[in-house]
Amino acid sequence: MTETTFNFCAGPAALPVEVMKKAHAEFLDWQGLGISVMEISHRSAEYQVLATQAESDLRELLNISDEYAVLFLHGGASHQFSNIPMTLLQKSTTAEYVCNGMWSSKAAKEAARFGGVKSIDVLSKDTDGLQMLLPQSDWQRAENAVYTHYTPNETIEGLRFAQPVESEAPIIADMSSCILSEVIGIDGFDMIYAGAQKNIGPAGMTIVIIKKALFDKMDFSSVPNIYNYQVQTKNGSMLNTPPTYTWYLASLVFQWLKSQGGVAEIEKQAILKAEKLYACIDEDDFYANPVAVANRSRMNIPFILKDPKLDELFLTEAKKSRLMGLKGHRSVGGMRASLYNSMTIEGVNALTDFMLSFKKQFG
Ligand SMILES: *Cc1c(COP(=O)(O)O)cnc(C)c1O
Repeated sequence: MTETTFNFCAGPAALPVEVMKKAHAEFLDWQGLGISVMEISHRSAEYQVLATQAESDLRELLNISDEYAVLFLHGGASHQFSNIPMTLLQKSTTAEYVCNGMWSSKAAKEAARFGGVKSIDVLSKDTDGLQMLLPQSDWQRAENAVYTHYTPNETIEGLRFAQPVESEAPIIADMSSCILSEVIGIDGFDMIYAGAQKNIGPAGMTIVIIKKALFDKMDFSSVPNIYNYQVQTKNGSMLNTPPTYTWYLASLVFQWLKSQGGVAEIEKQAILKAEKLYACIDEDDFYANPVAVANRSRMNIPFILKDPKLDELFLTEAKKSRLMGLKGHRSVGGMRASLYNSMTIEGVNALTDFMLSFKKQFG
C-alpha cells in the first residue's frame, strides 16, 4: 500500500493500525505456542491470563469499581435490547425509554414486547431549525419506572447528550458508539452496554458493565441461563465458549488505549478531531450539519451537501482519495464521518482537505 486509507465507517469500524499490526504479527504463533489465539481453549491458562487482563485494563480505563461486574458477551447491542427487559421488566411494570434517535427507539420498541414502556421523545428543533435534545426539566417522566434507558450518543443522527441523564430509577445506557471516548462517572450508571464493533474491536461481542446490586431487582426465573447476567458473572462470561478472538482484539485495543494516555487523553483528541471537522462543515453553506452545537456528536458527524445531486460524485471522489465509509445511513442519506478512537488527526485532516478542494471545484 502506497497511500494510507482512512476509514470513516460507522460500524464495523476502523481499528487502530498498531492493533491490527500486532494481531497480524502474532496471528499464526501466539505467545510462542505455535498456534493462533483463535485456536486455543478459552479455559487454557494462557487464554485466562488474556481474559483477566482485558477485564482489568477496561476497569482501569473506565475506573470501574468492584461493585460492578464486567461481562464479555456474545452478540450485538441489539441482543441487550431484549436481554434487559427480559430480566427487569414485566407486563405490570413500566420502564422509561428516552428516545433521541433510531437506536434508542428500537430499544424501546423491543422492550414493549416484554412489558410497559414509557417512551420519552426528547428530540426537538431549535429556533434555527436544528435538531436538539429537550432539557431534562421539560421531559414527561414515568412514575415508578423500574429503570431508565437512554443512548448517550445516537450513531445515525449524530446527537449527543451533553449531560448524563438523571433518574430516580436505575439508569441503563447504550454506549455502543461512545464508550471509551470520554471520561464518565461509572457511579451514575447501573448498567452500561456497548457492541464491540465501534470503539472496542470487531463485531460479535458486547460488553456489559453492571452494578451487582441490580441483580436483586432482576427476575431470572424464566430467563435462559445464557441471558442470566448473574450466572454469566459467576462464570466469568464463560458459561459457554465466548467470542475468543474478538475478546483478544478488544484486549489489544485496551492496551493501545492505555498507551495513548487513557480515556482522558483520548477525549481531548476526540474533541479536537470533531472541532476540526465541524469547522470545515460550518465554513459556509456548501456543507451543513443539522444538529444544534450543544448536542453535536463527537463520534458520528453527519453532513449534507447543499446540492444533493453532488452526493454520488462526492463519495466516488472521496474513495479515489482513499477516504472510505462516508455514505450516510440509508435512513437519513447524505454523508456521515465517524471519528472513533482509532481515527487519527491525520485522517481528519485528509478528509477536511478533500472537502475543501471538492468545494473549490464544485461550489
Ligand atoms: C450500532 C449500534 C447498535 C446496534 O448494534 P448491533 O451490534 O448491530 O446490534 C445499537 N445501539 C447503538 C447506539 C449503536 O450505535
